[in-house]
Amino acid sequence: MELPQNIKRLDEAVVNRIAAGEIIQRPANALKELIENCLDAKSTNIQITVKNGGLKLLQIQDNGTGIRKDNFDIVCERFTTSKLEKFEDLSSIATYGFRGEALASISHIAHLSIVSKTSNELCAYSANYVDGKLQGTPKPVAGNQGTIITVEDLFYNMVVRKKALKSAAEEYQKISEVVSKYAIHNPSVSFSLKKSGENNDIRTPPNSNTVENVRIIYGNQIARELIEFSVENENLGFKANGFVTNVNYSNKKMILLLFINHRLVDCQTLKKCIDQVYATYLPKNCHPFVYMSLEINPLYVDVNVHPTKHEVHFLNEEQIVEAILSALETKLLGSNNSRVFYTQA
Ligand code: ADP
Ligand code: MG
Repeated sequence: MELPQNIKRLDEAVVNRIAAGEIIQRPANALKELIENCLDAKSTNIQITVKNGGLKLLQIQDNGTGIRKDNFDIVCERFTTSKLEKFEDLSSIATYGFRGEALASISHIAHLSIVSKTSNELCAYSANYVDGKLQGTPKPVAGNQGTIITVEDLFYNMVVRKKALKSAAEEYQKISEVVSKYAIHNPSVSFSLKKSGENNDIRTPPNSNTVENVRIIYGNQIARELIEFSVENENLGFKANGFVTNVNYSNKKMILLLFINHRLVDCQTLKKCIDQVYATYLPKNCHPFVYMSLEINPLYVDVNVHPTKHEVHFLNEEQIVEAILSALETKLLGSNNSRVFYTQA
């Protein structure tokens, strides 16, 4: 009979790489985490530069609080964060990612460097990271207040993943979607996105507003047909507001920008139900544009429980979806009447 193989412990670096590859599936996931960090740091200007769909280069510059020089040594280690101290904070936290995993994960599967300056320091500091560890000591360099994170050669040590992501154009498209959505959700922050050496593909001004940013990014065809809606219910512990297109507009695919507690997420239940509401008003196979910001009592929702969980569920989901739909229905009915009236006049 054959004898069993000996069980061996996997090398720590391999374990970390596997875990990191699960959190960061493609360049757009990494970028989402990095954007959330900039927003957490109270940035008002976020500039993103990309090479080869983010696989060669993903660089993000902000004008936020910066990272203290004495934090440079641990900033990329796993479970290091300035946003969470004890387990209970998990439920009350208002910031975005908060488990201290994003930078660590990225440093295990890419070449990561940070340049950062706080308002207290006279110059910026620059450092490189490998597998969560600071290489050498941070070097003083010239730089503006804020942080530049540079991610190069993403998945350089994950050959299979690298091969699976063969289309730079497709990765860029995903990156562009993430930037577009965050720009619309954060109109007071100026966002820009470009391919290295080229002109900006996306640029929103500072102190803009939602409709204006929809116009800049998705075009006037959508922006001019938007109706605003909001609904809240204290008992169910939620508040929703946003902009949706009226019945004059339709698209082959539904465009949904859904934020729950300011984190970009998917929720198939909500998506399907919204589509059904519109099905009564739009021609067959036609779909709306929907931007919705949903705030739910953090005790009732687990959006942040795991970084890979883009799809979320929450307490009272059925009733909350129901309440949102009926608010939408009312709005659409109103816009439909005005259209009928308008065309008859
Ligand atoms: P988390 O966001 O969950 O805390 P990250 O790995 O994303 O974990 O970031 C670790 C820490 O690095 C953050 O808590 C924050 O203190 C700091 N940090 C990361 N990005 C920035 C940034 N752009 N500006 C200022 N601080 C940052
Ligand atoms: Mg983070």
